[in-house]
Amino acid sequence: MQEEKKVSMFDNAVKQFDRAASIMELDANLREVLIKPKRELIVNFPVRMDDGSIKVFTGYRVQHNMTLGPAKGGIRYHQNVTLDEVKALAFWMTWKSAVVNIPYGGAKGGVTVDPTQLSISELERLSRRFFYEIQIILGEEVDIPAPDVNTDGQVMAWYMDTYSMSKGHTSLGIVTGKPVEIGGSVGRTEATGRGINICLQEAVKYLRNKGRLNKKDEEITVAIQGFGNVGSNLALTLTEETKMRLIAISDISGGLYNEHGFTSTQIRRLMERTKSRKKLLLEVNEEGFKEISNEELLTLDVDILSPCAMENVITHENSKDIRAKLIVEGANGPLTPEADEILLSKNVFIVPDFLANSGGVTVSYFEWLQGMQWNFWELDDVRSALQKKMINAFYDVVKTMEKYEIDMRTAAYIKAIDRVATATRLRGIYP
Ligand code: NAD
Repeated sequence: MQEEKKVSMFDNAVKQFDRAASIMELDANLREVLIKPKRELIVNFPVRMDDGSIKVFTGYRVQHNMTLGPAKGGIRYHQNVTLDEVKALAFWMTWKSAVVNIPYGGAKGGVTVDPTQLSISELERLSRRFFYEIQIILGEEVDIPAPDVNTDGQVMAWYMDTYSMSKGHTSLGIVTGKPVEIGGSVGRTEATGRGINICLQEAVKYLRNKGRLNKKDEEITVAIQGFGNVGSNLALTLTEETKMRLIAISDISGGLYNEHGFTSTQIRRLMERTKSRKKLLLEVNEEGFKEISNEELLTLDVDILSPCAMENVITHENSKDIRAKLIVEGANGPLTPEADEILLSKNVFIVPDFLANSGGVTVSYFEWLQGMQWNFWELDDVRSALQKKMINAFYDVVKTMEKYEIDMRTAAYIKAIDRVATATRLRGIYP
């Protein structure tokens, strides 16, 4: 048997870009300029462990594009982090910021480490030293990191403090996703889930107008996979702010089904419990909800499905059994390219990840604005500014979709690429 060739995540990302670039007939020179990352920094740095030994770790910061503004993107800690992965994630950040029309470029960072093997003080020393190493290419108006897989508000606080110590003054604008007590924004934690809910509502209106969904809100059923930051906040905003029936939710340990629809009070209670126990629903099933598996959840007879857990959960194998008419992608890359094709051929309407989940980076942008001005907003201001940004982005993409008669993912790429390409043409190639 032939050995399977390792697929580059960056090459796959470029394939999606190429499809859109061909449809919009993007000039070949510009294609090359927009594909290649601007800067790729690799750092090898020592950290003193609790037992007195020293370990050398490898980390990365890739700035993909900075044409529209400072580079923006999270930092992840994971044993599988590679330069290829960080490049792909930085590339996607460029298009995510551009599609939602915020003045940022794209970046991403990571350290190859399994953080569960570190003590809290080792984690702090690793975080501070890594940030110090990469700060040669960072700055409040240059490149602004944020949390990603296995990094959180505490890690952002250490980053902010490390940078501030070397500058000699407090610098709030250097990272987002900080705790509210030290310059974070209210409404940041819920922002991604809330933004997905905004896209979901607009997609329902759009499908109704097109005669593709003939149901009132009360008759519409929804299933959400994943009950972490993204899935639980989507569940909460959906049950608090709409009459739709959320009939299934799940996390890594399984799912819960409630044919009458979960209430927002039940969702809040489940959020409290899962927060303290880290997982799950099955352990806390005293309310008599029916148990279902994650696979059953995906193929339930619902109108709307929102995968909010992880990548590649809908594949060529299970996509033929998917019954939802609308999929709103909360996670990054929940559909494989094959599944995407199969579902599109079944006329499923798919709101793509980098549009649907861009609420997080949008409120990160609001946090940065507040930090740069030392002037903090009320929750209502954050929510209404998010709503406006998401709705504008949604209809910008819809217009592009209708103009080219294409799917929403390709349309989102075209809209985003067009913004960065136009700025690049206007600025010209230096010198
Ligand atoms: P999280 O770690 O808070 O939650 C992940 C959830 O998925 C948990 O409930 C976990 O139990 C569940 N899960 C994990 N493996 C699963 C499996 N095999 N089957 C079913 N459920 C499983 O993560 P998050 O921040 O909610 O992120 C979820 C996704 O959204 C990721 O793809 C992330 O990249 C993406 N995303 C997050 C943000 C953000 O602001 N947090 C922004 C944009 C995109």
